[in-house]
Amino acid sequence: MTTPALSYRGRFAPSPTGPLHFGSLVAAVGSFLEARTRYGEWHLRMEDVDAPRCIAAAAGEILRALEAFGFAWDGEIVWQSRRGEAYAAALERLKAAGRVFPCACTRRELADSAIAPDGAAIYPGTCRAGLAPGRTARAWRLRVRDARVSFDDAIQGRIVSDLARDAGDFILLRADGLFAYQLAVVVDDAEAGITHVVRGADLLASTSRQIFLQQCLGVPTPDYAHLPVAVNAEREKLSKQTLAAPVDISRPGPALYAALEFLGQRPPPELLGAAVSELWIWAQAHWRLDRVPCGPALPTPQGPAEP
Ligand code: GLU
Repeated sequence: MTTPALSYRGRFAPSPTGPLHFGSLVAAVGSFLEARTRYGEWHLRMEDVDAPRCIAAAAGEILRALEAFGFAWDGEIVWQSRRGEAYAAALERLKAAGRVFPCACTRRELADSAIAPDGAAIYPGTCRAGLAPGRTARAWRLRVRDARVSFDDAIQGRIVSDLARDAGDFILLRADGLFAYQLAVVVDDAEAGITHVVRGADLLASTSRQIFLQQCLGVPTPDYAHLPVAVNAEREKLSKQTLAAPVDISRPGPALYAALEFLGQRPPPELLGAAVSELWIWAQAHWRLDRVPCGPALPTPQGPAEP
């Protein structure tokens, strides 16, 4: 028997803004199972680039939770907070290629801008042709011009985006001196050789921007699969902002079972009280990406306590 060549490298990239909640567990489970069942690697990256939003203890809590669930990742953990030089180098390349421009606009000056589908302000172009006399640069933005991006998402289907309409010239270096998430993700995925991105559909609106940025930097575009978003009874995405409860790491089995169910995998009821090791054996043998539903959904109540 020959071992298939390694052609799949996936990742899970949590932001340590709070402990692992059900929504991020779903992204971890989906990206992990897709990678492992395709004989791929699965890497872990702590997305702590947005330092003011990160909580000191959260990264440790996330790692403890991942261990309690029995996740095993390949290679070293990548910490975005330590990768400033790589992001700066990418920005320099974009400056040299004339792809970016300095922007002096304040949040207040942009308050009347049109709003993109993901809630971000669409830049009206004020500084695109150069800074007005006497103004100083606060941020750097990527010029999107009339770029259109389309890609086939393995779960959500064909996605077509007109970047001027859907995003506008977006920020790569923020006024507070921090690199933007979009730049960090693209640089990190490219450097790690990520071939497949499996993550929550709340990031679908970012993907077209990231693909355009990949094109500007001349790096490969991975394949994408955006998992359904877990919402609460008010149809809000589970997140720290909506006060999503952390997953209970003293009883990981029921949460893993619920994540598999949420991902359309139909684990057998006999496994409801099973330990995570048993659940993983079943999940690796039965995982099917084509069973994953595309729309947002409420998680089903978790099963009974583990024996
Ligand atoms: N850090 C992002 C989050 O926790 C995920 C980014 C990604 O997977 O590209 O929502």
